Amino acid sequence: MTRPTRIGIGHDTHRLAPDGPLRLGGIDIPFDAHLIGHSDADVLLHAVTDALLGAGAIGDIGELFPDTDPANRNRDSAEMLELAYQQVQRCGYDLCNLDCIVFAQRPKLGPHKLAIRSRLAELLDLDLDAIGVKAKTGEGIGAIGNEQVIAAQCVVLLTRERER
Ligand code: MG
Repeated sequence: MTRPTRIGIGHDTHRLAPDGPLRLGGIDIPFDAHLIGHSDADVLLHAVTDALLGAGAIGDIGELFPDTDPANRNRDSAEMLELAYQQVQRCGYDLCNLDCIVFAQRPKLGPHKLAIRSRLAELLDLDLDAIGVKAKTGEGIGAIGNEQVIAAQCVVLLTRERER
């Protein structure tokens, strides 16, 4: 019998402000700007979190961690991701793989991709080869191209857990 699978999609955008470092994908990248938001504004981890919650059909990051709750101010997004994944696992699902895109004019993410994938692997207890991280520029136009924002997208695949 085929085990049921679930897919999920996540998307997020955060504004850039002067001075680094840039928190992205759970790591601090040396850069001349940082993302702003209620939490630590880690746009990639937010997209991954929403993809997981969406696959489980158990809400979204704003419902689980509302920005009206002072406890979420400057909160480490890695902690939110881990809590969200725990909820997904309680629903009986395990993460098979995830694939992400970061949309940023700068910085070049090539040198940081392995560190980001490694951090995601650690947070989600997943093999490195099940984690895709890709980067796109904004071709110099629009909010991404003009370095006003960084955006991220993520898709995940969940499978029903084997017997516990
Ligand atoms: Mg966000």
